[in-house]
Amino acid sequence: MNSDDFADLIFFSNIELNPENDAVNFIAYKGKETVIADLIKNNHLENISMDDFNNLVAKYMPLVQAKQKLQEKKIDDFKNMSPEKISRLTLEQKIEYLETIFNKYQTNEKLADIYSLNKDNLKALLYGIRLPKDFWQSEERQADRFVSLVSDNQQITDNMKNWQKINLEDKKATIKTTAKIIEYVYGIPLEIGFYTSEEYRKHHNLDENAHTLGAYQEKGKIFFNSDRLENSDNYMGVSVVFHEFTHKRQEETKFDNPLINRLFACNAYNIMGMKNIVSSSSEYGDMYSLMPLEIHAFAMQQYVENKIADKTGIEKTKANESKNIRQVHDKAFAMAAVAKYHSI
Ligand SMILES: [Zn+2]
Repeated sequence: MNSDDFADLIFFSNIELNPENDAVNFIAYKGKETVIADLIKNNHLENISMDDFNNLVAKYMPLVQAKQKLQEKKIDDFKNMSPEKISRLTLEQKIEYLETIFNKYQTNEKLADIYSLNKDNLKALLYGIRLPKDFWQSEERQADRFVSLVSDNQQITDNMKNWQKINLEDKKATIKTTAKIIEYVYGIPLEIGFYTSEEYRKHHNLDENAHTLGAYQEKGKIFFNSDRLENSDNYMGVSVVFHEFTHKRQEETKFDNPLINRLFACNAYNIMGMKNIVSSSSEYGDMYSLMPLEIHAFAMQQYVENKIADKTGIEKTKANESKNIRQVHDKAFAMAAVAKYHSI
């Protein structure tokens, strides 16, 4: 065990004393079951006595607290900086602030506080993230192979041309064929699933008018909303799969540039759940379009859409979607284009 393991143990579990045998039990928080189970197993913490646990506390707690103090100081420094100064930080310095603000132990309450105290500074920080030119170039080289195979696939291009007329099953088939092409180009297996808005709301305990996502990826599998698919534009079957697959790669792939890996590992997305962001659609659109993970995914989506349009001559049709959804997507595409234009 080291102090990082110890921090995981105490921040990701409830610590309870078992009165029957006087042993300490660690009850993992939701989503942290594997982390805690591994820690218990690797450090032989099954039925650890209160005395032994106190020894661990004495050994590691001072280190954990010292680290926390440093983080709080850094967050305080950030609060006292001007947006101009933040915009002049290097990419690595910006990533360090993101890693500190969105560290894995950050609670939602704390994050909500940080957000309300640092709204402008956070936007300046995220707006100023510029990815290296060679990163974009290598991303585009790989995407070019995807573009060629999609543009040469007659089933896909025929379906794109007739998107409004084909039935739901043909739309789903387009997505599945696109996924096969992605598997082939990137050598990464890709599973696809479908859900309806009603199923989504039931699963997430949302009320009947709540916003539902058009597509998302979870644990490496990509899910599509079949209701939204019916009203989608003719590029959804190819470019949204590619967008969601980009998110899957952000989680699973090691990129050549270590700064990129650190940036993609930041939990900046946790801020999207904050009440004051979710409740205002313009605030939601601003923050969503500034998420580094979305900038990468939207820029690559835009890239493949433009290239496929060049190669096939198929124009993108208008989706039958709500004004809010369109505004959020327009913002995200615009921010991605700006970020790419300013790459370093
Ligand atoms: Zn996305």
